[in-house]
Amino acid sequence: MKFDVVIIGGGLAGLTCGIRLQKNGVKCAVISAGQSALHFSSGSFDLLNKLPDGSDVDCPVEAAGKLDALHPYKKIGELLGFYADEAKSQLIGCGVDVVGEAGANTYRITPMGTLRPTWLTMSDFTAFPDGNSLSGKKLLIVNIAGFLDFNTKFIADSFESRGAECRIVAVSLPETERLRLSPTEMRAPNIARALEPETVLAALLSEIKSRSEWADCVVLPAVFGLSDLAPLDYMRSVIGKKVCLVPTMPPSVPGIRTQLVLRRAFERMGGVFMLGDSVAKADLKNGEIAAIYTENHGDYGIKAHCYVLATGSYFSKGLVARPDSVVEPVFGCDVDYEKKRADWYDSSFFARQGYMRFGVVTDDCFRAVKNGKALANLYAAGSVLCGFDALQQGCGAGVSMLSALYVADKIMKG
Ligand SMILES: Cc1cc2nc3c(=O)[nH]c(=O)nc-3n(C[C@H](O)[C@H](O)[C@H](O)COP(=O)(O)OP(=O)(O)OC[C@H]3O[C@@H](n4cnc5c(N)ncnc54)[C@H](O)[C@@H]3O)c2cc1C
Repeated sequence: MKFDVVIIGGGLAGLTCGIRLQKNGVKCAVISAGQSALHFSSGSFDLLNKLPDGSDVDCPVEAAGKLDALHPYKKIGELLGFYADEAKSQLIGCGVDVVGEAGANTYRITPMGTLRPTWLTMSDFTAFPDGNSLSGKKLLIVNIAGFLDFNTKFIADSFESRGAECRIVAVSLPETERLRLSPTEMRAPNIARALEPETVLAALLSEIKSRSEWADCVVLPAVFGLSDLAPLDYMRSVIGKKVCLVPTMPPSVPGIRTQLVLRRAFERMGGVFMLGDSVAKADLKNGEIAAIYTENHGDYGIKAHCYVLATGSYFSKGLVARPDSVVEPVFGCDVDYEKKRADWYDSSFFARQGYMRFGVVTDDCFRAVKNGKALANLYAAGSVLCGFDALQQGCGAGVSMLSALYVADKIMKG
């Protein structure tokens, strides 16, 4: 099997890179072991919410200049704003409907009902210009009876602290009651699946509508539209007033849909997506990757002109922590990590954790470094990279998408 580019990892970074390449006529394969961080997504894409010193960021594009030299955004440099706009248009072009601008963070709701800054918010959710937008509103918070991953009391407390008046109700249907027979079945994607037949959704919406006369806005868990946006559009038209969806605890329905939509877009453009296969090793010749080998294909090597490492962080096993080291398991690339294990973490749970910044070392073009030398045809993109803390800085999706687009352009120019 021979491709122009093989991308290892089919999460947000791998698919973003693959779609840009494939759209420009570069023949790509994405090999992906399994689920990605998108399956657990909040429904928002962060670009930059905080600087390393903890100060808040209002304008990510301006604030990026103040980041440390190792941060992936520093390699993208002045093109950051350009790639942020490209990332947004690519998402929308593929069918992931998002709102937001790289020049000004807005707020999104968390599963606890609090507001958090972000860059792009999926159209499922409401993006708030500031923390006062709820003041004076009458909110009906509706849960599906027995669904524990949507905490109505926390959400009501949080909204009331911002000046809203809240009422909580629970609704049920025979289809959702069936899920309750086994508590482990009562998860967001299973509820979304149960609500897929239009007759079931219509019955639920009629129940909600009959109880929502008092409210200005109906607040619901994000359990609509597992594979496309049609159930959301239908829900909004039936309820006939403002609907505010709140992300649930994972798994995430909008995140799973985004993964599916991006994968479909990539395949529509002619890309090959190999799901459930894992790249195990590679042949290295004269400072270049000559072939890679996967679990499913055994000794049959897969060849390409270029390779992109987009295997994610610890969560997806793109980085593996051993007792005394952190390694990148496929190519054995150099990983930037603190040599003293005690410096990996802070025993205070909410403090900045050192291990979050560990990752694969690259040169200025995001070519992965092994034994101190950049490999000529292996690029790295996304959360496998070193030099940033997605949690503390709120820049996870931004790093994944922007580094992936940057790498795609480097490959095309090269
Ligand atoms: C649980 C969680 C939730 C997050 N939520 C948000 C959010 O709401 N907003 C936000 O801005 N950021 C969020 N982030 C940050 C997140 O890292 C990025 O947003 C982004 O989705 C990461 O994408 P990625 O493609 O770099 O990595 P991943 O999404 O981790 O994808 C890596 C992929 O590579 C595959 N893979 C790994 N090793 C191999 C191998 N050897 N062979 C083949 N395939 C392999 C994995 O199976 C996986 O599919 C979250 C992170 C986590 C861990």
